[in-house]
Parts: sequence; C-alpha cells; structure tokens
Amino acid sequence: MADPDVVVVGGGIAGLTCAAFLARQGLDVTLLERDDRLGGLARSVKVDDWLIPANFGRTDGFHEGDPKSRILEHLGLLERLRPTPCDTVCEIRIDDFRLTVPAGFDAAREAFVAAFPADERGVRRALGSFERLAGEVERLADDSRSAALRFLAFPLFYPAIFRLRGRTCAELLRSRLRDPRARVALGAFAQLIGTSPADAGAMACALAATAALRRPIAVPGGGRSLAQGLADVAREAGAEVRTKTPVTSVWTDGRRVRGVRTAAGEVPAKVVVLNAPALVAFGSLVDRDAVHAGYLQRLGLMKPSASASVLLLAVRAPRAELAATADLVVVHAGDDPDAHVAALDEDSVAGRTMTVAVHPPAPGSDAPPDVTLLTAVVPDRIGRWAGADQARRAEQAEEARASMLARLGFLHPVLSSRVAASRLLTPLDLSEWTGDPDASLFGWEPSPSQSGTQRLEQQTPVDGLLLAGAWTTPGGGYGNTMLSGFLAGLQSAMALGKRVRM
Ligand SMILES: Cc1cc2nc3c(=O)[nH]c(=O)nc-3n(C[C@H](O)[C@H](O)[C@H](O)COP(=O)(O)OP(=O)(O)OC[C@H]3O[C@@H](n4cnc5c(N)ncnc54)[C@H](O)[C@@H]3O)c2cc1C
Repeated sequence: MADPDVVVVGGGIAGLTCAAFLARQGLDVTLLERDDRLGGLARSVKVDDWLIPANFGRTDGFHEGDPKSRILEHLGLLERLRPTPCDTVCEIRIDDFRLTVPAGFDAAREAFVAAFPADERGVRRALGSFERLAGEVERLADDSRSAALRFLAFPLFYPAIFRLRGRTCAELLRSRLRDPRARVALGAFAQLIGTSPADAGAMACALAATAALRRPIAVPGGGRSLAQGLADVAREAGAEVRTKTPVTSVWTDGRRVRGVRTAAGEVPAKVVVLNAPALVAFGSLVDRDAVHAGYLQRLGLMKPSASASVLLLAVRAPRAELAATADLVVVHAGDDPDAHVAALDEDSVAGRTMTVAVHPPAPGSDAPPDVTLLTAVVPDRIGRWAGADQARRAEQAEEARASMLARLGFLHPVLSSRVAASRLLTPLDLSEWTGDPDASLFGWEPSPSQSGTQRLEQQTPVDGLLLAGAWTTPGGGYGNTMLSGFLAGLQSAMALGKRVRM
C-alpha cells in the first residue's frame, strides 16, 4: 500500500473528525489508535446488562450558524446521529435551592432573574458580560481589519475582552453579584468545562455559558455514538483506521516531520496530526531537539484541567419517577463558591460539585422502560489514586461510591435500594482510555492564561506536525475538539496543496 498523505495519531473525537474530513477530501489517511477502542474519553461502559454513557452525551454551541454544526452537516452526521435540541440547559441544586434553566439565552436570563429577584441587576450585569464577551470573540474571528489596526485599537473594538482578559470567572461574578447562591449558580458553567470558577478564565466561562444557554444538543447514545459515527464516515471515505496500534515516536528529520514509528515499523507520511495528550506528545513522542526551547518551556508551565471520578448507575425507576427537572443536574454542597476548590484539595469527594446526567435508554437498546441510566461525575485528581496502595484505593473507592450515592438520594426516596448495576470509574480508568497521565477531562485548564488565544495552535514548531484535540484551541468537549480536528484537517490539506471542497 502507498504511503499515506496524513497519519493521525489517536482516535479521540478530534482525531476521528480530522481523519473523516481528510478522507472525504480524497486524501490518503491512516489513523492509528493505541487502545482497542476508538473514542478516547468519549465512550460508554457495559455495566452488567446495561451500556451506560460515561460522558453526558450533551454538547453545547451547536446553535444555528455555529461553525460546529456546519461540521456535523458537512460530514453527513446530522442525518446519521439525529442530535436533538434540549429544552433545558440544566437543573441547578444548591442544598434545598432549585433552579431549572431553560434553553435559549433570553429565557435562561429571565429564569435566573426570577430565582434571584433581590440581585436582579447583578444577574443581568453578569449575564450581560458573558454575552458581550462571547459576542466580541465571535466578531474577532470575522474581523477583516489589518492585524496592525486590530492590535493598536483593540480596546476600542473589543472593550469587554480587553477589560476582562486576565480575570477569573469568580472575580467577574464577585464584582457583579451580591447573592452568594447566584454566584454559585452562574459559576456552574465553569464546572461544565472542567474547573472551578476560581480557576476558570472569565472569557472561557462566558463562551461555555453562552454556548450552553443558547442551544445545547444531545447526541442519542452519547459520545460513543459520535465517535462511532465519525469512524464510519472516515472508513466509508477510504481512511484506514487501526486500533491496538500505539505510535511509539514521531519520526522527524531536523525540524520536519517524516512520519511515525510503531512496534511494526516506520509509517512515512507528509503530515502527522497528533490527537495524543500534549504532554505525552512533547514528553515522549516527539524528539525534543526538533522543537525550539521556547515551546517546550511554555508547555512546562501549562496546567491540565481536573480529572474525575465517575459513578455509573442503572436504577430500577422510570425517568418520570426521578426528581430531576432536566437531563443534566448540577449539585452543589453549600453556597460557598470557594468550598468546591477547598474540597478538591482534600481527599473526600463529599463537598465537590457533582454533575449528574440522566440518560434515556440508547436508541435501539432493549433496556426495559422501568430502568434509567445515570452518570454522576465529581472532579478528582489522579495523584490520590496513583499514589495509593491497593487497600487504600479500595477504601477511597468505597468512600466515593457511598458519598456519591448518598448525594444522589434526592432523585428518589429509596434510590440505593433501586440500584440494578453500578460501577465507579476513577481517574486511573480515564487515564487508561487515553494514555494521559493526568487523566484530565478537558485538556489544559481553561484559566485566564490558558484559554482563547493562549491555547496551543494546531501548528507546532515542527514542519508538517499538527495538533488536534482538547489540548489545543478552541479547547475540550465534543464541539470544541471536533472544531480543533477540523482545523487540523484544513491545515493538513493546505500543507499538501490540496484544494478544499466544502
Ligand atoms: C466523565 C466525562 C464526561 C464528559 N462529558 C462531556 C459532555 O457531555 N459533553 C462534552 O462535550 N464533553 C464531555 N466530556 C469531555 C470530552 O469527552 C473530551 O473533552 C473529548 O472527548 C476529548 O477528545 P480528544 O479528541 O481531545 O481526545 P481524547 O479523548 O483524549 O483521545 C485521545 C486519543 O488518542 C489516543 N492516543 C494517545 N496516545 C497515543 C499514541 N501514542 N498512539 C496512538 N494513539 C494514542 C488515546 O488512546 C485516545 O483514544 C466529558 C469527559 C468525561 C471524562
């Protein structure tokens, strides 16, 4: 077989999107995945008789006109996957406080105002800042002014980005809102991108919030269906997709890529796209002499987002019997916005924000109608698992399982007696799925110094070597990683002198 034009290393959502796009453009593409399954973090787990999505299966930012929905359309996935728009963004629970956030920015703003009437002005100001920031970021992408003019007059054209660029989400919310519960409620969007409001950049949080509030969509079957759909498109268009094929190194010649190496030998390619975690890519796959010191230094200073422990449950209770008003419930313990950060530094998972997805049975599955599938996620650190011996790990797992199950008690008066099957995934499991030693959920933490234009570009200092995935711009989550894979695909095609058909 002829050498491929492009080798994609890693079959996560970004790598699969890149391979599908390039194969449809008529390029020779080979995708090599180290694991025996595709999808990376986006997968489901068989727990006894039930296939439970480990991911929430929701993604944000797919409103009309958003480039991400055009990617789904371009790859023919709207037809195949039939994603459904969600009526609700989420339900927020803070102790006995409840707020169901409807989809649509205006409807959501009125729901927040109605929930915090004493802080109406603050809520409107905070959401107004989110909307202005997101609007300016969108305008920035379409700005046709010269780079020099944009740079010199930046504060005039983009005042919100200029003022808030170095601020965290917590700082923005503190300066706008008096009610601590309102701060916790609006800070929930930081948790949806893998960090606490104290660490998340105001801009990253604004983008996540506006994308979620405008139009979340659910992919039936979760991330696994998305990965499967992308893999099918790639294969049907002629891409070779190999699992159980870890790439052991990127083959370079000076600062130019020549291909990759696997246990079976060298695979030459004109372009290589790395969907592998950035710290692995530049820690062990790419020869450090091929990369200038400044890039490696920058990488050395970057911090990954949090990992997670995930409790998967099949419960014998129909969806209607559960006290959840949305398919995604964000549960806070207490109304101290900083408590979540403090809890993350301790060993217990009890005080941490928990996000719960209530899944309808997968399409075509024969799950009985009286069973509902649940995925509960709490942020976690891999260090406390990797550093523990077997006995300690078992204790920690028991503590996490019991604590999460107790906190899920709000869903049903006797939930624990209704559990038909359960499995706890720890950061060690997530690390095994991707090879990421930090098992981070969303690549780099979206802090002020690591979001927006501060994230790694698809281009690397090595000629012909590109990055795709959560570690690059625009960030983690299905939508962002699809966009990142698509951008890597476009740049690969351009590097090969291929005219792109859209
Ligand atoms: C519990 C949980 C819930 C989530 N819920 C949602 C959600 O509802 N909505 C949402 O949008 N996002 C969600 N996310 C985040 C989302 O799943 C990730 O951000 C996204 O899937 C990351 O995709 P990726 O392409 O960047 O890479 P990854 O998923 O990290 O994939 C990288 C791939 O590269 C492979 N690889 C690594 N090294 C090599 C090598 N040397 N050779 C060959 N292959 C290699 C890995 O095995 C892996 O398959 C969730 C994540 C988790 C864990």
